[in-house]
Amino acid sequence: MIPAIAPVTLTLVRADPSRLLQQYFGFSEFRPGQPEAVAAALAGRDVLAVMPTGAGKSLCYQLPALAGGGLTVVVSPLIALMKDQVERLRRRGVGAAALNSQLSPAQQRALLGQLRDLRLLYISPERLSSDAVQRRFREAGVTRLVVDEAHCISGWGHDFRPDYRQLGDIREKLGDPPVTALTATATVVVRGDITTLLGLREPEVVLTGFDRPNLRYRVWPVPNETAKHEALWTLLTRHPGPSVVYAGTRERVEATARQLQTWGFKSAPYHAGLDAEERNSVQDAFLRNHIAVMVATNAFGMGVDKPDIGQVVHLDLPASVEAYYQEAGRAGRDGEAATCTLLYAEGDAERQRGLLSASTPTPLDLKRTFVGTKNAQPEPLAADTLGLNRGKLIGTLQLLEAQGIVTLARQKRTLTLTLHPNWHSDVPEFKDSWTEAYAQRRLRLLEQIILYTETGRCRREALLSYFGDTASRGACGCDHCVPEPFLTETSLSALPRFRTPQPVGRAGEIAGWLERQEFLERHGLLGRRYRLSARGAQALA
Ligand code: ADP
Ligand code: MG
Repeated sequence: MIPAIAPVTLTLVRADPSRLLQQYFGFSEFRPGQPEAVAAALAGRDVLAVMPTGAGKSLCYQLPALAGGGLTVVVSPLIALMKDQVERLRRRGVGAAALNSQLSPAQQRALLGQLRDLRLLYISPERLSSDAVQRRFREAGVTRLVVDEAHCISGWGHDFRPDYRQLGDIREKLGDPPVTALTATATVVVRGDITTLLGLREPEVVLTGFDRPNLRYRVWPVPNETAKHEALWTLLTRHPGPSVVYAGTRERVEATARQLQTWGFKSAPYHAGLDAEERNSVQDAFLRNHIAVMVATNAFGMGVDKPDIGQVVHLDLPASVEAYYQEAGRAGRDGEAATCTLLYAEGDAERQRGLLSASTPTPLDLKRTFVGTKNAQPEPLAADTLGLNRGKLIGTLQLLEAQGIVTLARQKRTLTLTLHPNWHSDVPEFKDSWTEAYAQRRLRLLEQIILYTETGRCRREALLSYFGDTASRGACGCDHCVPEPFLTETSLSALPRFRTPQPVGRAGEIAGWLERQEFLERHGLLGRRYRLSARGAQALA
């Protein structure tokens, strides 16, 4: 007979999160998103926290690690990030350590022998892929696996790390602990990749802090290119402070900067085709307000911290809503009101679709690149010797890297390719499906930004709901919530027979205005209201 087992009541003694917040971190209140992420983790659920940089993502797993006990393993892509976190935790008396290539093998072994004393262990993805390390973790028991900078898992994110790809499998090998994934990259595609590739199960998705209430979004439909430049002139005249104008290509950046200079604006071009010295000096001049208008491709902005950019103008459609949001978001970092205007001419959508297909690599491009890389062995191949146009080059490199065929590195300004050892003797089969999937994905992203420009709803809500934040908000300052009631100069330029003034500086500006006034008066148009649309300006009754 099997003896009856007396029922055991297990009382989990868990520390109160708010008390731990005070005790270990010295904070009196949670920041937005933290309570949800902490509660879900304490309940043993998978968590995906998407919060901007500086929002306090670390606490979302550190606090549960302290409250729940056991060992939390944190995958982090950068040794510097690990060190910083470990030092902070240790100062607060928390058992924390980092396992990475900076430790000698003996030190690594010693650390793996002391897992019992640790609450949090930071580790690089390649160390975690070691069988011996995984075995030790299995023996010790992992309470939670944390993946920091989780967007690195996605080939479509900006920091793809092939090592991250294995984390889904590794999770299983560690005994399938719950996962917390953290990122500041709020793109739908990347988020989908994180969820799928890490195998998150009904994760608690915490998404906060992306709203920028001081930004005023608007889309100005203009009938043509001339009107676009007129609109730009209007915007820059209205706001003489620091502005960034984004254009789609280097050529357009150069041409626009020249045009603005002839109009008397202090402006300069910025794109990746300039050498590092030039770019630095332009950037520096902008930071010091020696230049008021930076005309740039999307190469501008990464790591630039200029708080007082009062407006961002887009001359061309960006590649995606996330690119737009990031670029527009460079405005108003100081919290002051700032405007983000997208100029949208009829035909822009079609033109971008065309550019996109012209910049999609073919399987033949992939193959040629592979052969070139192979022939260059053992030397790395410089990407700019491939003779591919810039658009195709980016896709080619992304695809070959995502397939694990080449590894990319940067030597000063040159991007280089090295063949992955797996392919030293074999030749991969370059599938149509790779490039097709790539093209479709980019097209989907483009269609979303086109929908944004054509939407009739509040721009802020449209943007935030794209990122999964569907909270309804009151009227904001966007062009749908607060329609601009008065005649704009742009609409004037769309009126038939209107002569486009080419103002130079202040004098030109006044002359331009007088000319417009006179024109309107002469045609009995003064004082009437107009509605602006892609077809031009219509007088309202
Ligand atoms: P992220 O990883 O999201 O970029 P961190 O986790 O590094 O951000 O946190 C950024 C800063 O915010 C840190 O200095 C951290 O101590 C602080 N912080 C986090 N949570 C809180 C809070 N609830 N109250 C006050 N400061 C906090
Ligand atoms: Mg962080």
